[in-house]
Amino acid sequence: MLRAFLTLWLLVACAGFARAETIAFTDVNVVPMDRERVIPRATVIVTDGMIASIGIKAKPPAGTPVIDGKGAWLVPGLADMHNHVTSRDDLSLLLANGVTTMLNMGEATNSFAGRTRIAVNEGKVPGPQIFTALAVDGDPQYGHLVIRTPEDARAVVGIAKANGYSFIKAYTNLSAEAFAALADEAKVQGIGVVGHNVKAVGLAEQLAAGQAMVAHVEEFFYGFFPEPPADDQQAPPDDARIADAIALVKAHGAFVTSDLFTYRTIAAQFGKPEVVKAYLAAPEARYLSPADRIDWARSGYQKKAVDLSRRVAFEARFVKAMADAGVPLITGGDAPTIPGLVPGFSLHSEIEAMLAAGLTPWQALSAATRAPGEFIAKTVPGAAKFGVVTPGYRADLLLVADNPLDQPATLLTPLGVMVGGRWHDAANLQAMLNEVAERRAVP
Ligand SMILES: [Zn+2]
Repeated sequence: MLRAFLTLWLLVACAGFARAETIAFTDVNVVPMDRERVIPRATVIVTDGMIASIGIKAKPPAGTPVIDGKGAWLVPGLADMHNHVTSRDDLSLLLANGVTTMLNMGEATNSFAGRTRIAVNEGKVPGPQIFTALAVDGDPQYGHLVIRTPEDARAVVGIAKANGYSFIKAYTNLSAEAFAALADEAKVQGIGVVGHNVKAVGLAEQLAAGQAMVAHVEEFFYGFFPEPPADDQQAPPDDARIADAIALVKAHGAFVTSDLFTYRTIAAQFGKPEVVKAYLAAPEARYLSPADRIDWARSGYQKKAVDLSRRVAFEARFVKAMADAGVPLITGGDAPTIPGLVPGFSLHSEIEAMLAAGLTPWQALSAATRAPGEFIAKTVPGAAKFGVVTPGYRADLLLVADNPLDQPATLLTPLGVMVGGRWHDAANLQAMLNEVAERRAVP
């Protein structure tokens, strides 16, 4: 029995995809993300998938498998809190990009929300820790589950919970009565409501009713800021109103998903089929599924010209102001449905877009680590803590070559990723990417 176990351990260790009961990082600079600081040359001991201790000059127990962190930096794994990932290959793309937590914000089937989520979270399938939101709408035009009455709304909360969804995603065309019943029942059953502006309700009332998160920053265009003038439909809101939006979000303790890169990418392709062709020819597009390639090529944005440039610029100022005011921002990559957004890669693009908007590396990295951890701790009862490198938290860790608070680009090329205590070294991550590219190669 012992021999069989040892052989298995060696096999998984050789594959670079291992979970020892106890494993230690030695001599590593820790960027814990609890506050802006570095713990130099520490020993981080991980036991049963959780961070057990962080010690200076501490020696791991004899015989503990060790990852030498000399000269490297250990940060919390990244969180992609808005995507539409449903396949194993896309889960590999996320993990290879250092994403250790994801939230599917629509199109997660019950089998993904149940079976796949459980298998990944138990470590049987490689991928980030999975959370899912069941999207509900008032009409079928966007393909979401339709609920029309308060009774439907109350019933769907229990159905979502029973099927393993952690959230209900409210979509644009819900009726006011259905939204009210949804928000109320969600409170009773202890499940979070997240999502879009609901046209019949508006963000101010939605947050007051307990909606925990706004799924994209641009929802404020549709559901909070005054309507643009009829002769200039893409005019940006007045910057003077930013303070009101910030006050609203802070009054309700809500979270906002930053989607600067998503919005900029949408803006770039309106009326421009050549831009979508360029997305399909980009290096990371070789990792796309054949179905997504077809969907990108056929997508609707390229068919009509809309100039969103002033709104794109406004959004950058708005996100920077929210970050400075202490609004908890969380990052989302929104892949793979929108052309130009490849799972995992688009999350790094979002971090880059936040930096380009003037956020400090600390602010941007907080949105990708600590804030998502706080969001889940607040909204999903019983979920393990994550997002900070500290004892008692999930061992979701990223080992990188430089200090990301000085050189955030180091996050793009992880030396290794640990998810729930399972270690994937750089060679294993590259092999995962290669396998996905091979399986999905265009003949
Ligand atoms: Zn989305």
